[in-house]
Amino acid sequence: MSLESSTSYTLEVARVREYIQEMKELQNEPICAYIRDLRALVAHVRQRVQSMPGSSKLFYAIKANSEEHVLQALAPIVHGFEVASLGEIVKVRKISADIPILFGGPGKTEAELLGAIEYGVQLIHVESLHELNKLNDIAEQKGVCVSVLLRVNLSGPFPQATLAMGGRPTQFGIDESLVPQVMEHLKDYPHVQVEGFHFHSLSNNLNAISHVKLLKYYCKIANQWSTEFGLTLRYLNVGGGIGVNYSNLEEQFDWSIFVNGLATLLTSELKSSTTVLFECGRYLTASSGYYATEVLDIKTNHGKTFVIVRGGTHHFRLPVSWQHSHPFEVVEVEAWPHSYDRPQVMEKTITVAGQLCTPKDILASDVAASRVRVGDILLFQYAGAYGWAISHHEFLSHPHPKHIYLDQ
Ligand SMILES: *Cc1c(COP(=O)(O)O)cnc(C)c1O
Repeated sequence: MSLESSTSYTLEVARVREYIQEMKELQNEPICAYIRDLRALVAHVRQRVQSMPGSSKLFYAIKANSEEHVLQALAPIVHGFEVASLGEIVKVRKISADIPILFGGPGKTEAELLGAIEYGVQLIHVESLHELNKLNDIAEQKGVCVSVLLRVNLSGPFPQATLAMGGRPTQFGIDESLVPQVMEHLKDYPHVQVEGFHFHSLSNNLNAISHVKLLKYYCKIANQWSTEFGLTLRYLNVGGGIGVNYSNLEEQFDWSIFVNGLATLLTSELKSSTTVLFECGRYLTASSGYYATEVLDIKTNHGKTFVIVRGGTHHFRLPVSWQHSHPFEVVEVEAWPHSYDRPQVMEKTITVAGQLCTPKDILASDVAASRVRVGDILLFQYAGAYGWAISHHEFLSHPHPKHIYLDQ
């Protein structure tokens, strides 16, 4: 991360911290809120879009966070949205009648494919041969021809090893070995127009140079197939997977190295008639979202110190899902209106737990804390993607957090 951007991040966090202090003064209930800094969100994404080479487009994969405020803020900036269900298509169309939509994901139902056609989805990412048959049939009944990309699970070897969705057996995409069979029989699908390929093979890549190398590999394969099967490659969708460094917030994916490498790559590897599509989720919405939660209790149990907060993994499942300690800072609250003692720990290793009746309800394990008191607020950072969106909100029927959107 460049010095300039890390300075602006420090200012953004300071603004959120100030907001929390004000909120605490105004409310008696323990603080528990997701806070979205819309100004920071817009600045972050706009800078990314504006610095990309002309033949590439940035879509936002809304499963990372599909809140209306987020979609509203991003719609004027990104090239479109990537969705993975009819429900997500409806969410997008609620805020824009015509923003381009890409639709992927395994096991699409007939209703979803029909919905995609009716809501004017730009490209459908076909995940299997059966889906191709199904879509061709539905498109025929509607009397239309649908533009698609074939999602392929590549065999590799890849230029790097951190793959999640491809390069190994998964439920995603068409096995690479079946591609010739599909391509040679495209005439059997007259209501489907194959416009290119989709390769989303990994998640949370932190290394800009290795990401460029991966894209180079994608270009090579897409070109090879385009030549071999006489396909005009209009689009190459390279997926998402640009990462967020949760273990060291100062060292994030180096975007400027990435876009420079990308510009060179696109000039040398692809025809100017091919557009490269990105569909990023985490990288776009993580940094401007926070989960703020008040410390309710502090105790030591079998030699380990637990800090218990309002909320937990039913609001913010990301740390358990990724098996990491989520980064946070302590917002100190001076007021203590009670006559009894205020529990606190100083210079201790702490584990942060929520209110659920399961030992898995942990947000951070064995992390150093200089001082934490009951009534202070833990501000979890980089919580804006795959946080609330992936959590099991109703487990134990605790109240939901507030959702606060700081203005642009
Ligand atoms: C989840 C997903 C994305 C977004 O992934 P991030 O790692 O959040 O960038 C993009 N494309 C597909 C097909 C996905 O399933």
